[in-house]
Amino acid sequence: MTNGILSLDKINKVFGTGDLALHVLKDVSLDVRKGEFVSIMGPSGSGKSTLMNIIGTLDKPTSGSYFVEGKPVHELSERQIARLRNESIGFVFQHFFLLARSTAVANVELPLIYAGRTRADRRNIAERSLDRVGLSAKYRALPTQLSGGEKQRVAIARAISTNPRFILADEPTGALDTATSGQIMDLFRRLNAEGTTIIMITHEQEIAQHANRIVRIRDGRIESDEAIR
Ligand code: ADP
Ligand code: MG
Repeated sequence: MTNGILSLDKINKVFGTGDLALHVLKDVSLDVRKGEFVSIMGPSGSGKSTLMNIIGTLDKPTSGSYFVEGKPVHELSERQIARLRNESIGFVFQHFFLLARSTAVANVELPLIYAGRTRADRRNIAERSLDRVGLSAKYRALPTQLSGGEKQRVAIARAISTNPRFILADEPTGALDTATSGQIMDLFRRLNAEGTTIIMITHEQEIAQHANRIVRIRDGRIESDEAIR
């Protein structure tokens, strides 16, 4: 697995048991390499968020193996998984999840606190991250003083601040208008061109097209997996 960032091998996820069992992911296998920008697409209810939670180590598969940089997640302790999640994955969500009473720079500093960086380091890294997403003028702004697109930029700055192995984004433009969505995709493409590996979940074809690979999922199975550039 040269340059392998993550590898899913025959992942199954079943919610519930007996008559109520719902088989949501069915033998999902997927390899992502360093530098890729992958869109995972599928209609509502196809299992995208379930897959995202497994890739993000927020949930465990019922069966199958998952490796991040060759490390078998299914064999790690909760503590080791929490550490891997912190160090390796930068999360971006549809609804941003910013701390409402904290400035942009304080929001970006948050994962750096967990990572044990010094105060001076944190401030410096957080400001550089905000610079990278075009928010040099907004270090001290509170979320209420920012537009939706700016809030998502803060969330993206927070995601890249720890220099993660990959960014995992779930419907990152789901709460944004078309023009702002385009700007966020331009930003993702630039970060990807600078070397950031991105896995983005979306149900919108137009958004998915910005990646260089589209994986389609339907009824919990991978239906197609194609390079698009
Ligand atoms: P998507 O993100 O593609 O819309 P989800 O992964 O959220 O799809 O959901 C896929 C299916 O799994 C849906 O039928 C949903 O109701 C079901 N599901 C998701 N999470 C749970 C859960 N925690 N318990 C039971 N069923 C769930
Ligand atoms: Mg979903």
